[in-house]
Amino acid sequence: MDISIVIPLYNEEESLPELTAWIRRVMIDHHFTYEIILVDDGSNDSSWRVIQELKQQHVEIIGIKFRRNYGKSAALNVGFNAAEGEVVITMDADLQDSPDEIPELYNRVKNQGADLVSGWKEKRFDPLTKTIPTKLFNAATRSMSGIYNLHDFNCGLKAYRKDVVKSIEVYGEMHRYIPVLAKWAGFRNIQEQVVQHYPRKYGTTKFGAGRFIKGFLDLLSIFFVGKFGKRPMHFFGTIGVLSFMIGFFITCYLIFDKLMSIANGTAYRNVTDQPLFYLSLVAILIGTQLFLTGFLAELLARSSSDRNKYHIEKII
Ligand code: UDP
Ligand code: MG
Repeated sequence: MDISIVIPLYNEEESLPELTAWIRRVMIDHHFTYEIILVDDGSNDSSWRVIQELKQQHVEIIGIKFRRNYGKSAALNVGFNAAEGEVVITMDADLQDSPDEIPELYNRVKNQGADLVSGWKEKRFDPLTKTIPTKLFNAATRSMSGIYNLHDFNCGLKAYRKDVVKSIEVYGEMHRYIPVLAKWAGFRNIQEQVVQHYPRKYGTTKFGAGRFIKGFLDLLSIFFVGKFGKRPMHFFGTIGVLSFMIGFFITCYLIFDKLMSIANGTAYRNVTDQPLFYLSLVAILIGTQLFLTGFLAELLARSSSDRNKYHIEKII
């Protein structure tokens, strides 16, 4: 099969018939063999019934339904597991992304060696309250991930080599960072393609302002896990030791200072009267705690089931 199109959806009943008909048109025009994997993320409108009806006339449709709403990342993950096409396309269900982009995305992966092609909505039809924070978010992700050629990490329209989606695991709200996950899994040919973007035709956006705070926290955890996930002690241990040493040297200085004063017979203050004393106390306590956190994290990392999971290629 050439293409699997994975579409996560939550309460998108009005868009689905139009979207699937449009995809079918494009697929037939270009003679692709394909499947459309519609992942219903626990919708409480009649999306699932619409999918069942569409399936009657359109055999390429595969429907998967969550019993409750788990989020876009979970929906993508399940869709990725089910996908069988050589190239996997993801797109939003709300008709903001155009199926007309699919042939060019496919071509880039199939014939130009791309592992992942991310859409870039150069001209966006979203409110300013969304586009400005998005710019900041993308700049932060670019500099932290080292993927400098992407303008828009979170575009729903993307194409992947099948290997890529089978090697990464999207969970929590990590769908914003799939290119980063792919890079860490060792897929380096990450490209971008300018795509058309349309205003939302039906329904409303499913992500509120909270997306930016959550997105930022996810950014921090993804980088922590990516960099230190397999060796947490290197992170906690380093700053723990540093903090401990600072406390230790201050303590030495305080003792030395007092002994010198006693020896010289000059006036001296109680150790507990000095701000430095409290600083050293805090530094030593924090240092020890970080160290212990490092040990605990290390134990967790050792017992995790994917501690020896590597992304490999093999010829036999
Ligand atoms: N979506 C989903 N589960 C959710 C929220 C959203 O599957 O919990 C789907 C939604 O139906 C749409 C896509 O994710 O197909 C993008 O959502 P939306 O268009 O609301 O996001 P925006 O375009 O505003 O960023
Ligand atoms: Mg949308």
